[in-house]
Amino acid sequence: MAQLDTREKLAILADAAKYDASCASSGTSKRDSRGGKGVGSTEGMGICHSYTEDGRCVSLLKILLTNHCIFDCAYCVSRRSNDVKRAAFTVDEVVDLTINFYRRNYIEGLFLSSGIFSSPDYTMERLVRIVKKLRTEHKFNGYIHVKTIPGASEELIAEAGLYADRLSVNIELPSELALQTLAPEKNYAEILTPMGQIRDGIIQNKEEKALFKKVPAFATAGQSTQLIVGASGETDLQIIKLSDSLYQGYGLKRVYYSGYIPVTDDARLPQLAQGDPVTANDLTADGHQTSPPPRFTEASLIKALEERGIGRPSTYAATISVIQDRGYVSNRGQALVPSWLAFAVTRLLEENFHWLVDYDFTASMEEDLDAIAAGDKNRVEWLTRFYFGDADGAGAGEIEGLSHAVENLGEIDAREVNSIDIGDGITVRGRGRGGGPQAGRRSRGARPRRAHGRQGARAARYAGRG
Ligand code: SF4
Repeated sequence: MAQLDTREKLAILADAAKYDASCASSGTSKRDSRGGKGVGSTEGMGICHSYTEDGRCVSLLKILLTNHCIFDCAYCVSRRSNDVKRAAFTVDEVVDLTINFYRRNYIEGLFLSSGIFSSPDYTMERLVRIVKKLRTEHKFNGYIHVKTIPGASEELIAEAGLYADRLSVNIELPSELALQTLAPEKNYAEILTPMGQIRDGIIQNKEEKALFKKVPAFATAGQSTQLIVGASGETDLQIIKLSDSLYQGYGLKRVYYSGYIPVTDDARLPQLAQGDPVTANDLTADGHQTSPPPRFTEASLIKALEERGIGRPSTYAATISVIQDRGYVSNRGQALVPSWLAFAVTRLLEENFHWLVDYDFTASMEEDLDAIAAGDKNRVEWLTRFYFGDADGAGAGEIEGLSHAVENLGEIDAREVNSIDIGDGITVRGRGRGGGPQAGRRSRGARPRRAHGRQGARAARYAGRG
């Protein structure tokens, strides 16, 4: 077989990657300037678009490592029984293409998927080598999305997460039955296991980051999946239920839906022709409304404090006055509306003085102060314990002491404290008193773009935060 040059491989492997819907489109077939007709084109493949946390649209080089595949999924153009031209990049070819396109400003990141040659681990190991080389040897800080290979080992998926911003595992089809029928070499267990592994890795990474400053990142842009709609007979409700369970159970950032495109001849697939009408078996228009929880008023806040045993009648007015004077709340009619400052201060306290920012602790402190006032407790002993803590501070009922918490405070990243991740890669950040929130998306090496003022406030309100 004649050797293909990199350009020929790129044409084949970028074209084969266009069916992957895990980013925005590669264009339509309506306008095409190739052949000297005008300027610009919506046709072609190779570059797709994705959205960063700060809202920017970034261009990604979207390719397969190979379109050779040992599997024979009925709906896939790369299935082993399909008669298509095959190609495979080497690790260095993908690295060089990415770096050279990046330097020429064609792309800002990489979307890398693959057919399976030889075995899942053999293929996954090459994908890992590519992203590792980009990050460690070339210090590439652009966005990287890697599709994991079904059946690849836990170790390789864990390693991929160290270098990729996003990992994804395709759920492929909306039911296990459809998978058995159209892709019998795959099964839900093999798909859901790595999804669970990635979910756990992301959670663990966040927890470790909260404790230690220097923890290697793991799939910081989360995980996504894709399923093909229309190749099998599931109803919309079944598909939405599956998506919901994936969002809830695996913490996915996105479930992408890819409309079935007939690219192979197979009796198991729906026989569709261009122009076939879409029919619906059943349609119901259901309204759905939600309303936010009511805000505290002065009266309801005092009632809540009373119920939790926090404060005393003589202190309620002073407490409300302090939170108003310090700008933690403002009055809108009867309602007390929390300010951005309040969220930032609360977060700072919760993260650094968690044992103090606790309803039970506050209520028990009130009782202790009552006991001191009544002469039943010694104030010096109480204050000494509060400040210096118990011997090791880790046992049941023991406290670590304020001095220990203050001495071990470490550096506080004010920007981080002032930011709230509201999901979907969007971060809302306050700008101090009266400055109003900003909302934006962030990506590796990119300056965040923000919505300020009203837009930011709207984003914050949307998030139920302001
Ligand atoms: S494993 Fe992936 S590339 Fe291979 S045939 Fe199935 S869907 Fe296509």
